[in-house]
Amino acid sequence: MHFETRAIRAGQEPDPTNGAIITPIYATTNFQRQSIDQRDGYAYSRVSNPTRAAAEQCLASLENGKYGLLFASGMAAEVALLGLLRLGDHVVCTRDVYGGTISMWKHLAPQRGISVSYADLRDLNAVEGAIQPNTRMLWLETPTNPLTYVLDVRVLAELGRRRGLLTVIDNTFATPYLQNPLDMGVDIVVHSVTKYLGGHSDILGGALVFNRDDLYEPLWDQQAIGGAVLSPFESWLLLRGMKTLAVRMRAHCENAMAIAQYLAEHPKVERVLYPGLPDHPQHTLAKQQMRGFGGMIAVYLKTDRAGVDRFCRSLRLFNLASSLGGVESLVGYPATMSHEGLTPEERAERGITDNLVRLSIGIEHVEDLMEDLEQGLRRV
Ligand SMILES: *Cc1c(COP(=O)(O)O)cnc(C)c1O
Repeated sequence: MHFETRAIRAGQEPDPTNGAIITPIYATTNFQRQSIDQRDGYAYSRVSNPTRAAAEQCLASLENGKYGLLFASGMAAEVALLGLLRLGDHVVCTRDVYGGTISMWKHLAPQRGISVSYADLRDLNAVEGAIQPNTRMLWLETPTNPLTYVLDVRVLAELGRRRGLLTVIDNTFATPYLQNPLDMGVDIVVHSVTKYLGGHSDILGGALVFNRDDLYEPLWDQQAIGGAVLSPFESWLLLRGMKTLAVRMRAHCENAMAIAQYLAEHPKVERVLYPGLPDHPQHTLAKQQMRGFGGMIAVYLKTDRAGVDRFCRSLRLFNLASSLGGVESLVGYPATMSHEGLTPEERAERGITDNLVRLSIGIEHVEDLMEDLEQGLRRV
């Protein structure tokens, strides 16, 4: 079946007790057993719950994966992956990565005796150079946050396999509508479903999707014993959100392309990074490995920090706010928002300067969005 159909149908048979078409919110902690010997079926909602199971099956299907596990947030899903590592293990992580992931490596990994090196994964020599005898995991994110650089997923998955590393990719920005990393050889896909998959900025959630049978038990332990699970209500909102993922992503991509082109021509703009623009450094690669270019744009304005502040405060439709991937457009300031946890030197190394803003393009009418940006840029 095609993506759009699976997004609406996968994991969602009519309810066997009464025929309800929409999977109900099973707001129950426990389930009655038929006998003291019953071992199968549902027992306790931390371990499994029918609404969560439906959402897990649907998302696994969208990622062409065998297993899906839902967590209370994207970070809870990421922390679950620390459970695959042991004292003394080392991780190579893409340098341009989500701020919360950096905080995890900085604050939680050392407590477990796990170390990390960052590398520019666009450069294969740099990746090879960062791999140590104790390296166990290679962590990718593409398009990267916030600068939208694109990594070659097939090549990096192959390198990971050759060097015996577990490859993980954060697929939050692209979504399974735009790319399916498991098909490109990656071992585990991570999502913050808080973003495009939920799509309406009203749930926090995270997911792991994978095919490898040997990963199921250790990761299921992290979910069911760790207990940071997605609630039945939020699983239901996620199911509802995923039904429109395809149409929303088409609208995000279309709006973002038009806005990136408009900004690229604007006299108040120094540089626009959007994988759909021909001058993006990995435009050709993005065309090969993605089915569209997404809704995230990085913009360097021709001004200083004060000018950026005037710009952000004068916008009427673009809310100055964290997060991304909702139907409404947002502007973010990486230096004090998503990447606040970095030192000024770490920010400079990553190209996160005082004149950089990040736009999450929503699905409002594109002319209204451009008008808003135009009046904001006049105050730069
Ligand atoms: C938001 C985000 C996360 C973390 O997800 P939460 O749901 O906020 O915990 C991880 N990776 C990326 C790329 C994100 O945008």
